[in-house]
Amino acid sequence: MSGPPVESVFYDAEYETMPRDRLADLQLELLLDTIAFTYERSPLIRELWRKARITPADVRTLDDFREKVPFISKDAVRQFRDERADPYGGLLCLPPAELTAIMSTSGTTGDPTLVAEKWGGISVGRPSIMYRDFWGMGVRPGDHFSLFLFTFRGPTYGFVQSLGAVPVLFDYDLDEIERLLRLSIEYAPTAMYNFGGTMILATDQIAARAGIDPREAFASYRGIVWAGEPLGARARGLAREWGMSLFEHSSVGDVTASFECSAHDGMHVWEDTVLVEGIDPDAVDHRDAATVTDDDARCELVATALTNRVAPLVRYRSDDIVRITRTPCPCGRTHARIRTVGRKGDEVVVAGRSVLPVDVWSAIDSIDACRLGLFQIIRPARELDELRLRVGYQDTAQSRLSTLADEIAAAVTAEVGVTPAVELVPNAELLRLGPPHKIPRVAAR
Ligand SMILES: [Zn+2]
Repeated sequence: MSGPPVESVFYDAEYETMPRDRLADLQLELLLDTIAFTYERSPLIRELWRKARITPADVRTLDDFREKVPFISKDAVRQFRDERADPYGGLLCLPPAELTAIMSTSGTTGDPTLVAEKWGGISVGRPSIMYRDFWGMGVRPGDHFSLFLFTFRGPTYGFVQSLGAVPVLFDYDLDEIERLLRLSIEYAPTAMYNFGGTMILATDQIAARAGIDPREAFASYRGIVWAGEPLGARARGLAREWGMSLFEHSSVGDVTASFECSAHDGMHVWEDTVLVEGIDPDAVDHRDAATVTDDDARCELVATALTNRVAPLVRYRSDDIVRITRTPCPCGRTHARIRTVGRKGDEVVVAGRSVLPVDVWSAIDSIDACRLGLFQIIRPARELDELRLRVGYQDTAQSRLSTLADEIAAAVTAEVGVTPAVELVPNAELLRLGPPHKIPRVAAR
């Protein structure tokens, strides 16, 4: 497919704005193909379906699918991988020699997942992820595009080139920031992937030391993509001051990814490539998993690849708590939007009220001494009588600590309606708990 006219707002106007009823028909057609394809080739899926006593012939409609098809859990993939010595966890549908690359997820929850890739000519469907998103941000052929990358290097590089843009490459590393700022002034890139809160906070000091004005360095960018942990108030403030136009980005159950559009109100997921479902997070398995139908209500994300013909996941339970909306977006696209809320393993229920790190985040980092947003929810069990928080602080005298704890407790109470017990710890001590610039958001004690 040759690219759209440069003045077009959409990369693929027909598909991006497809009426919902046509999109539903297309999804069902792709879903039935995917089911037949994976049942034939994926040892894990065949095994799960056998246990559930179904075959592709039992699935004719979306209702059949919801009622009968078993979920794939992360544990099932890991178990198959370990027991059968199959690094692809029973999901690969091609001879391994046909792959062109192997990547892994960042492993935020412990055990990185392998992602098998075959680039060029294998996928059914049309160019979607990143093409439509980057185009929507304003990237056009001939532009420079800064790539600040860690584990997902390959495909992003290729997508940018396929758009006709020229990647300018950096490692995801604090030591690269000065070079990024200098080359940004020199090459005037129009977009960057991927630059989050930690990097923004670090840029403040690095730019000052190097005598570079971040406003000048970021002036050419129409869109800067960030992902991962929520941006704190301070990072958002700096981004605003420097004129950065930020677009949030997230994984969609290891099946695909989602990106914010120009409306900045939820991340679009391309539903001609993935079927997303929201289920009751407490469901034991597919037999008791009620579909959450309320628009924008909290639910667990379940994703099925519709156009991947390498290692498609079918009804993959992500453990991610999200909100899904299908109300029309002001940008004109008809595809669903997702808002991430947190991970199921991070949730605590205090006196019947669900609390996730994101719920207390802004209450904590709004307080000056806690502006780095370092904190942990103490989670010896999911259901608790009391919300306990370990909160990092800086620049506070010993004599002021009990006042600070009260201040935090009041801010959290106002935000979530639960009064926490607050343990204060110097930031430096909390930072030792995690990999650089990131700490686990829950702790067992
Ligand atoms: Zn939109």
